[in-house]
Amino acid sequence: MSASQDCIFCKIIAGEIPCYKLYEDDATFAFMDINPANDGHALVIPKDHAKDVHAVSDDSISRTVITAKKIATAVEKSISPTGINLVQCNGPAAGQSVFHFHMHVLPRREGDELKLNWGLKPGDMDAIGKLADKIKSNL
Ligand code: 5GP
Ligand code: ZN
Repeated sequence: MSASQDCIFCKIIAGEIPCYKLYEDDATFAFMDINPANDGHALVIPKDHAKDVHAVSDDSISRTVITAKKIATAVEKSISPTGINLVQCNGPAAGQSVFHFHMHVLPRREGDELKLNWGLKPGDMDAIGKLADKIKSNL
């Protein structure tokens, strides 16, 4: 399992930066996004550091998709959105701001007008923590 010293997501996996953790197994880690585009916005990452879709191994990406499905199912049970996008960005023009491969589990509501490059707005940490507990209870 390789980690990158300057990578914020590797530090989250190592417990050096706090997060609202949802799930972890030997290959993947899932946690709440601190700048949620919508309530219940979660991230799923492989533990093995790779910067994007071109660098990630077949095994890591497969395991990450399986965990994203698990998290999406728990989000669905927890907050009943009217849709969920699984989004994955590669490169700045595509909206990638953290260069450790990740999938967004992004709950959607009719008329939320969310753009593909939605921008980062800090979330309410208490509200994010409560949603994390609810999603975990449905895993
Ligand atoms: P990207 O823009 O690269 O597709 O997504 C990166 C995501 O990571 C963003 O949605 C951003 O809010 C989230 N993020 C960045 N730094 C942190 C952090 O320290 N903790 C958490 N939980 N999320 C972060
Ligand atoms: Zn990393």
